Formats: sequence, structure tokens, C-alpha cells
Amino acid sequence: MTNELPKTFPKDFNELIEKIRSYNSNIDTDIPLIWKAYSFAKTAHKDHYRNTGEPYFIHLYQTAYILAELNMDTSTICAGFLHDVIEDIKIPEEVLRNEFTPLIVSLVVGVTKIGDMDFESKQQEQAQNFRKMMLKVAEDIRVIIIKFADRLHNMRTLDAMPPEKQRIKSLETRDVYAPLAHRLGMYRIKMEMEDLSLKYLNPEIYKELNKRIDDQKKRSQHDIDDFISLVKKYIDEENVEARVFGRIKSFNSIYNKMLRQNRPFEEVFDILAIRVIVNSITHCYSVLGIVHQKFTPITERFRDFIATPKSNGYQSVHTTVIGPKGIPIEIQIRTDEMDKTAEVGIAAHWKYKESGESDELDKHVNWLRDLVDILKNDTQGDEEFLETMKIGLFSDEIFVFTPKGDLIKMPIHSTALDFAFAVHTEVGFRCIGAKVNGKIVSLNTQLSSGDRIEIITSTNHNVSYNWLRFVTTNRAKSRIRKWLQRHEFEQSVKLGEEILEKGLRKAKLSAKIKDAKTRFKELDYDTDNLFYQAIGKGDLTVKQIIKELYTKDEEVKTAGGFFPALHQYRSTNGISVSGYENMLVQLAKCCNPIPGDEIIGFITRGRGITVHRHDCRNIPNLEEEKDRFIDVKWQVKAGRTFVTRINVIGEDRANLIYDVSQIIHDQHTNMLSINFSVEGKLARGQVAVMVESLKHAERIMRKLKNIPGVLTIDRT
Ligand code: MN
Repeated sequence: MTNELPKTFPKDFNELIEKIRSYNSNIDTDIPLIWKAYSFAKTAHKDHYRNTGEPYFIHLYQTAYILAELNMDTSTICAGFLHDVIEDIKIPEEVLRNEFTPLIVSLVVGVTKIGDMDFESKQQEQAQNFRKMMLKVAEDIRVIIIKFADRLHNMRTLDAMPPEKQRIKSLETRDVYAPLAHRLGMYRIKMEMEDLSLKYLNPEIYKELNKRIDDQKKRSQHDIDDFISLVKKYIDEENVEARVFGRIKSFNSIYNKMLRQNRPFEEVFDILAIRVIVNSITHCYSVLGIVHQKFTPITERFRDFIATPKSNGYQSVHTTVIGPKGIPIEIQIRTDEMDKTAEVGIAAHWKYKESGESDELDKHVNWLRDLVDILKNDTQGDEEFLETMKIGLFSDEIFVFTPKGDLIKMPIHSTALDFAFAVHTEVGFRCIGAKVNGKIVSLNTQLSSGDRIEIITSTNHNVSYNWLRFVTTNRAKSRIRKWLQRHEFEQSVKLGEEILEKGLRKAKLSAKIKDAKTRFKELDYDTDNLFYQAIGKGDLTVKQIIKELYTKDEEVKTAGGFFPALHQYRSTNGISVSGYENMLVQLAKCCNPIPGDEIIGFITRGRGITVHRHDCRNIPNLEEEKDRFIDVKWQVKAGRTFVTRINVIGEDRANLIYDVSQIIHDQHTNMLSINFSVEGKLARGQVAVMVESLKHAERIMRKLKNIPGVLTIDRT
């Protein structure tokens, strides 16, 4: 490569530089570097053509140009030129390293690694690709911005591709890239991507919309022009400087509105839209005042995103007024800077530094931080991951308040518990209840904009698996999972120790408790905790321990008769095992399955079958231990009952415990124990009852839920 600069640059190169100069006046010092990337790409791809028949370089130039339109820094624009040299031309990374800065090379490598997602692949692979992509994005957000530019140009030139390829690319653009662009506040790119996807995924609709929008424009152009000059006149009278113009709505947003509201095109498109651009925030509100004074506003359509910006940075005031002919007209008022931000989103906040750090940017986008959290805490199943991603990407926001009046932005459908985690992780862990607008509500209550939320906490952590069923934010989900993972081991250890003590006592071997606790090595466990954990998980039973350690023991024999007294000895426990007879079957004590629960059997080596609830957290890894799972079915004799534990949280008040026990009594149900403790204004308790079936348990739970003041009911 030669580093010499030519006397005159090609026309397209000059155009690019002028584009950059419009937002970066210091561009001259970077010209040699950009020229190097330009020429390197041109040389590398010289024998390479696109499906359209054009030189491939056109794609690279256009990618770089789109990046300049997004006001990106020099490194990103250079990487835009080079983004296909590794993959398509097989130029080794080292060669790039000799020619360009580490930052440029790392951006190119990042884009190459993301690759394209194969939308025909299994959901699992999709999720993995997506995960990979998001981790790259989290490392340096410029990687995805280059990918956006690349994809946008490919979508603009998709005509040259075969139909199947068009469909796949369009799906991917609509479902992955456009939502991501939306999240990053890059509305212009998002709009174009969506409209182009619609063009290929639904050509008839696209054509029809195109025609109708044209017709409509011709018909209403006059009305809009009139309205614009009227608004302009009123603003001028107040000596406010402003630009007023008509706004084009995207095809996709019109189409979505038709689908969503099930309304014909005419009604949806009848809403005219204009935009007013002013110099300062003060002027935004002056214009708003003028408009509201001259026209009747539709109050429920008023949104102030200047006072409370969206988390992707979007700011503007939106209002809809009744125009002169009785037609509703939407008006967006914003400053130049806000307009820029709405165009290019996160890129508008780009600092022209070559530091390679994108902390500044990441700070701007909270959801990205949450996402990185999730990706690093890799415990979600693939399907579940895709689901959370989709919710995160498409969700809109609500605005809620702390008791002190601080504003917190949450995704729509957030619950009180999500709010607790949004305030602070520790508040989430200690959360036992919530008040919304002064009224005590259950933790799974969904919040609405404007709600004032007070979280009631206790001194201890109250995290439960049940929480995962209703929290919706990524943040809450990942924090809860992490906590549970950490405590799972501790929990089974504690449970195991209890089971051991109780079991030995029941077998009239209380004297052996101390001894049994020290002899875990004889049973092949390295530590006492692993020994307890095995008991807690149901992999090792007290009966087996007694058999191994004490059957030869004279003392025990004389105590005699302990086997029939043992819990696990009851025939087949109401379970039938396919293909096996007289297997030793026991119900896992971690999840206490009852008839009606979906269950699964796990063969414990040489110790029979442990039956867990289908969703029990203590089930060993399904993939690794596939061979040890076995189908089991309930086969219960009438009248047989099973232990289940029901958790109750409610407002503390006199007679709460009485009411709970009364209901259980009324249901002719045998209660084994009831424990309540009071924390602040809330009472938490657990009742252990003997039930015949899941239906029976659910009936009791429904009745308990109806007790005044009771907030949540669940089964352990
Ligand atoms: Mn490309």
C-alpha cells in the first residue's frame, strides 16, 4: 500500500469528506486515514462484483456514507469501508493490523463475527446467534451501527437477490435490526428498514399503501399547506424563530396502525402531521402555548418527552389539535438538537474521540446494561432468552414515581416487584409488599404511568422462585436468578440436614444423629455439605443411610422395628413407573409433589426413583442426565393424602391466622403446622396441609386468596 495522497481525490471521496465536515470541522487531519481505508477497500475488492452487476466497492462506499450521515467518527467510517475484507476477500487480520489502528481492526473483526443470523435455523441457534451479537454490541456499540449501515444498503439493493433470500433478509431486518435501531433511538434508520422489509414481505400491501399515500397527499396537501402557513403566522406574531413543515409517516407505522386498530386506511391516514423545529427548549413551550391557544387540543394525546425523555434519548413535545376544518392534526415540537437525536439516536451523542470506549453511550441506554447483565449471567434457556429479548426490544415505556417523587422509567407491563429491583437490587431482595398510590397491592400488580409506588421491605431477603413467574424486566429476572443460584446449594444443604435429623428421630435413632453427621465419607461424600445436599435433593434417603451405617449395629437391632416406621417405606407412594415393578419410589422432599402435579422420575443410582415436580429446581440437568429420567404416573388409591406447603403473605391484622386455619378446617383438611411471623405491616406464613390432589390444594389456595388483606398465596 502506498501512503501517498493523490493531487485530486475522486468525486465520491470528496462528497464523503464534505458530508463528514458538516458535523466534524476537524476532519482534515483524518483525511489520510480515510483515504487509506477507501483505497484499501477498492483494491481488495477490485475483482468482486455485487449481484446487481456493479463493482462491490459501491456497497462499501455507501456503507461508509450512511455512517457519515449518522455522524459517526473516523474509525467507524474506516471500518465501514473495510467491513467485508476479512469475510469476502479473506484478507488476514494481521494484514489489517499492519495497516490500521487496533480500534479499526477490532470494529471490522466485530462486524465479521456477528455475521448474519440464519432465520431458517432452529430457535436455539437463533438465540445463540442473537446472544453472540448482543455481546459484541455491548463491547462496542459502533459494531452494530456499522452493521445497520451495511444492512440498510443491502436492503436498498435487495431487488437483485432471489425471492427466498429477499424474504429471509427482510424478516431478519424487521425482527432484529429495526427493533434494535428503535431501542438505540435511530428512528430514521428504523423507519427505512421497516418500510423496505414490508416492501419484500408484503409487496401487495406495500404497493397499495404507496398508491394511497400518494393519492391522499395530493388531496390533503392543500389542507396541510394552509395549516402550516397558519401556524407559521401565529408563531411569527410572537417573534419566535421556527421552521414548520409537513411530516411523512412511515408505511410501516400506517400499516401497523391499520392492523392494530383494525381501521381502514382512510381513518388511519386522516391524521395529518406537522413538525415545528425551534432553537431552544423555552421556544418549544412557547410554540406549544401558541398552538394550544389558537386550536383546541385533544388533551389525552399530549405527551411531553422533553420533561421526561424516552430511555433511548428521544425528546420532543407531541400534541394533537383540531385543525380549521375539524381535522385532527398532530404537531411535534422540538429543538434542532432533539431533531438530530431523533434522526440518528445514540450516534448523536458520539464524542469524536478515538478512545475506543463507549461508556458514555452505554450510559445512555439502560436496557443495554441490563442486557449485558443477562448475557453474563448465562442461566436462561434459549427460548426464554429470545422471549425476554423480544419483550425488551419491542416494549414501550411507562413513567412511575418513588414516594419522594423521583421519576423512574419502566417497560410497559412492569410489576411492583420490577419496580423494587429498578430502585435497588437490595430493595428487590428484601421486598415483601408494595403500595401503589397508597393502597397495599400484591407484588405482581402491573404498574401504570403516573403510579406512585412505595416498596415495603423486611430485614431479610425474601426471594422466591415464584417471583420469576411474574417479573417482566430483564434486570429483575437476572438478579433473582443470580440470587437463587447462589442460595440453591445452601438451601438444599439446610433442608438435607433437617431431613436427616427428623428421619433419624422418627426411626428412634436420635442418639445417632451426631454420629451420622460425621460419617459422610463412608457414604462416598467428600464433605458434610455435599452429603446434606444429596439428602436435600432426594438423591440419598435416610433409609439408605440407616441401612449402610447401622443395620449391623447391635444397639439398633435391639431398638428394633424402625423400618416400618420409615416414611419412604410406604408401598409405591401412589406412583406407577412404566416398565418397572416394585421399584423403590419416593417423593422428593424439595418440591413435595401431589397428585395432579406434572411429575418426572429420576433414577438415583442403586437407590430407587425419586419423583420430582416437573418444574422443581432441584432436578438434575436434563441434558446431561437424560438416561436417568423415567416416566412416572400418579396412581393413587382413594383417600390417600400428601403433604403440601402453602405460603401466605398478607397485611398483618388480628385474626389473620384464625381465618387461615378456619378455611383449612372448613375444607375438611388436615393441617400439620402453621407458622406466621410479622414484618412491618405484613404477615408471612406457611401452612403445611395434607391434600389428596392438586385440585384440592388449589381449592384451598383460592379460598385463602379471598381472605381480606391476603396478598399472595403460593406453594413451595
Ligand atoms: Mn456488507
